[in-house]
Amino acid sequence: MDGTHSQSKEILNQIQLEKKRDALPEQLHGLGNLMRGTLVQTKVKCGRKGCICETGEKHVKIHLSLNLHGRTRGCYIDGREEAVAPLIGEYQRAWHIIEQLTEVNLELIRGNHPGGRRSKKRR
Ligand SMILES: [Zn+2]
Repeated sequence: MDGTHSQSKEILNQIQLEKKRDALPEQLHGLGNLMRGTLVQTKVKCGRKGCICETGEKHVKIHLSLNLHGRTRGCYIDGREEAVAPLIGEYQRAWHIIEQLTEVNLELIRGNHPGGRRSKKRR
């Protein structure tokens, strides 16, 4: 094993990780308005007498569902999907950045300490 070579590779890897760690919070600053939630298409009967949904095709409604303070919350957002969907998209973008940042920081914390990094390459 070429010790010097693998060590310089480690340093290069660390520099790359640090670059990523410094760039990711910048992306967080660029986030817009957001919210957590899931949009689910549901089919419902409206209850009106003589409506087609009594016997035939049910009405398609878009339900927004999310968990807030341990409780499931939600509402129907028909006609407002265009306003709500981008907020959820932005939340997913934020979540993705946080995941990447967590991964980078974990790598940096583990570093080269004995038992920190696995000796065998992953994947
Ligand atoms: Zn109906």
